[in-house]
Amino acid sequence: MKSKELLLQNSLTKKKEVFKPINEGFVGMYVCGPTVYSDVHLGNVRTFVSFDIMYRFLLFLGYKVRYVRNITDVGHLLDDGEDRISKGARADKLEPMEVVQKYTNGFHKMMDIFNTKKPSIEPRATQHIIEQIEMVQQIIDNGYAYEANGSVYFDTLKFNEEKKCYGKLSGRVIDELLVETRDNLKNQSEKKHPSDFAIWMKAAPDHLMKWNSPWSVGFPGWHLECSVMSTKYLGETFDIHGGGNDLKFPHHENEVAQNVGACNCQPCNYWLHTNMLLMNGRKMSKSDGNTITPQQLFTGDSPHITKAYSPMVIKFFMLQSHYSSTNDLTDDGLLAAEKGYKRLMEAQKTLEGLVSKDSSAELDADINKPLDGFIDEMCDDFNTPRAIAQLFDLVTKINSLKEGHLDINKVSNSTLTRLKTDFPRYIDEVLGLTNESDGGNTAALDEVMQLVLELRQDARAEKNWGVSDKIRDALAAANITVKDGKEGSSWTMN
Ligand code: AMP
Ligand code: ZN
Repeated sequence: MKSKELLLQNSLTKKKEVFKPINEGFVGMYVCGPTVYSDVHLGNVRTFVSFDIMYRFLLFLGYKVRYVRNITDVGHLLDDGEDRISKGARADKLEPMEVVQKYTNGFHKMMDIFNTKKPSIEPRATQHIIEQIEMVQQIIDNGYAYEANGSVYFDTLKFNEEKKCYGKLSGRVIDELLVETRDNLKNQSEKKHPSDFAIWMKAAPDHLMKWNSPWSVGFPGWHLECSVMSTKYLGETFDIHGGGNDLKFPHHENEVAQNVGACNCQPCNYWLHTNMLLMNGRKMSKSDGNTITPQQLFTGDSPHITKAYSPMVIKFFMLQSHYSSTNDLTDDGLLAAEKGYKRLMEAQKTLEGLVSKDSSAELDADINKPLDGFIDEMCDDFNTPRAIAQLFDLVTKINSLKEGHLDINKVSNSTLTRLKTDFPRYIDEVLGLTNESDGGNTAALDEVMQLVLELRQDARAEKNWGVSDKIRDALAAANITVKDGKEGSSWTMN
């Protein structure tokens, strides 16, 4: 494959560039993974589905891809300075690692439900403390970090004077950062400059997760893990680094600074950023009730939607926006996606039954054009909405061939064979969409049903009959029968 050029919108250069891998035929891709202190939300799903599509398409093009997606299990602090994992542990009276395991399991489950591929390596920050201490030392040795009272800070002013690149990725300048960070950090007095950031933090006596280091008993700064783990598994400079665009600053900006500060080279050649998921035109936010969980979408139990939606419909909905545009979740949008998804799946079935007598090749070009078009659009910075439009062009043609509006005998056998091979491959292999009515993704359906049954169980335990009845009715409407037994509940599809 790989004959077509792949274009990527590089956030670092702000340009669309031709992708040239460092090693011909191989791609190293690092994506910032979740901070596992609470249930994965739909915004996270959008970002990880987007990178899954990129991974799938690179594989489809024939690249050998090493896809590294980390688990953040230490160092990502809340505004009040408390570690997110520790906060979860205190709240639930669990060991921090129990919190990590619980939400990592939940994250994996959700990724399976949305039929995403597993990364090649999924490293955890706490498994790389030694390497993080080594990188802190390297940055100190190179003169870009200093110790103050047991903590180590990155010296942004000195770094920028010499390397002239702090702020390039996020488009910020140090003077702005000075204003922005003036009053939101506790340890300002220890720093030489307000925009300096901690790469090692001395732990307070009651801090839960801490390790010995040359500077103090403490813990690494959040940004450090990604610098360290990407370098360890992909090399000092690798091909693609991704994450949501809310991570551009400070997380990614500081990652670049650390990598350049430690190794004197940029961590990657292409930075890709996904845009945010909105709901009804506004940022999803728990505080003003403008939020919906994946579980609520699967069960239909939310005032924001009129019915339940399946994981593949939600995924199809997400793919109808380009990853770099905002994605506005609405009930109307989901209803339309449901129709579109069903049309696509039905066309696959219709296609299986088409037979040509191979008497002419008059219609071949009309079919090959959208088949090639799909690849062209995906090569244009993974443009899934336009690629899907090519699929719908094919759906119309497949239906016309079946109904006789187009003469199937004017399609050559070789083109019909290509259509029968590529059309399902695009849907399944590249977009990762399975046919749910086929039981095509049974494992995912099992996971969803387990979640739904758990929610129903919780509602019953709380005597919340409204919710439990709503779930029962939604399942009945989907022809699913639930049986309650001593061992728990089981389900069957009628
Ligand atoms: P976190 O677990 O908060 O570290 O986030 C994991 C990933 O999800 C990061 O790449 C975030 O940028 C991304 N993310 C968080 N919120 C949203 C959102 N509303 N829409 C899209 N991506 C998001
Ligand atoms: Zn990261």
